Amino acid sequence: MAPTGRGELESKWLLQRWDLPPREGVSLAWEGDSIGSIGFRPTPYPSVIIPSFVNTHVHPDFTHLIPGHSLIEWIKHVVKFRRQEKAHQVTPQEESMVHRGTAAWGSILARPWNVETPPPHQATRVAFHEVLGDMGVPLPPPGLPLSPHSPYALTPRLLEAIWRERKDSLKAIHLAESRDEVAFVQGKPNALEAEVFPLAGRNTFSRPKARTPVEYLESLGCLDSTTLAVHAIFLDERDVEILARRGVSVILCPRSNLYLSRSMAPLPLLREAGVPTALGTDGLGSTPSLSLWEEMRALWFYSRSMGWDLSPQEILAMATHRGAEVLGLEGLRGLEEGREASFLVIRLPGNLHPRELALFVLLQGDLHIEAFYIKGKRVF
Ligand SMILES: [Zn+2]
Repeated sequence: MAPTGRGELESKWLLQRWDLPPREGVSLAWEGDSIGSIGFRPTPYPSVIIPSFVNTHVHPDFTHLIPGHSLIEWIKHVVKFRRQEKAHQVTPQEESMVHRGTAAWGSILARPWNVETPPPHQATRVAFHEVLGDMGVPLPPPGLPLSPHSPYALTPRLLEAIWRERKDSLKAIHLAESRDEVAFVQGKPNALEAEVFPLAGRNTFSRPKARTPVEYLESLGCLDSTTLAVHAIFLDERDVEILARRGVSVILCPRSNLYLSRSMAPLPLLREAGVPTALGTDGLGSTPSLSLWEEMRALWFYSRSMGWDLSPQEILAMATHRGAEVLGLEGLRGLEEGREASFLVIRLPGNLHPRELALFVLLQGDLHIEAFYIKGKRVF
């Protein structure tokens, strides 16, 4: 590639977005960080150009696979771990995402909201500033993405205030991740108050009772189109209807969800209701890597075991342009003229039928990456 930031590649196939059919015989040209033109050029070279990945939920400051045989045990370890951890290891975690073809991510940043270092390789970091506690805790300046941690980690007054005062900020909240959280909003005995609160030095607080975590947030005015519900595992049909009506997006973290909660969000119900869905890895505390490829495969196998009618294309879409939509990243909504020149080149077997392309990429694509570009610059 010339140092001016221009470049051009030919490929037998191009996937502009995973909800569109592949285009055959293309040349993709870019200038600076944007795609300039996409033309027709027959080429026998068996490769496919695909959009780069978007990890919508990651905690880059978790550096270990934290032990725990249940979500509660795990949270207790996190509370201890975070107290002991001195240095954040954000950069190596972000590098590991880039090395698996991820060009953008939504990071949950614990206070002191350490974001001095720019993300590596011109990648895009959407920094969600984590908020926990009661009224009086500092909020970041208006306009920045927030992560009010969960229904149980903030008082209802603070939750209401955040949605009231930060109308334009994206807000990622861990929601309906455990049965204890369901018991918590129902006002029933639960391990969060009995075991986690004392360890974290927190007092319990009064709150309205609700049938489910979704209805709890609904009653506080904390569900809208700026809300990203992370995990959203324990939902029923009424919850799904509320999320759809409020324009909430749902982020699944398949391996973390299976590891900590033995379950996953009811994806067929969410899709049927029109709830936007995307994929995240969560942090290394609850998943062995920050690879969206492995996340997609976990979802693929889980959906097969559940008998869900979910195509490889839909899973790839969740890991790419749907993730970009959820994070508000216009440049990554597909490989089109004017959008970001961030893409992967995958080598294909010579005799691969286009019908098999998506499944091949999902199951084996990371073993056959020939090149990865972020904003027109070759990363590897
Ligand atoms: Zn999380």
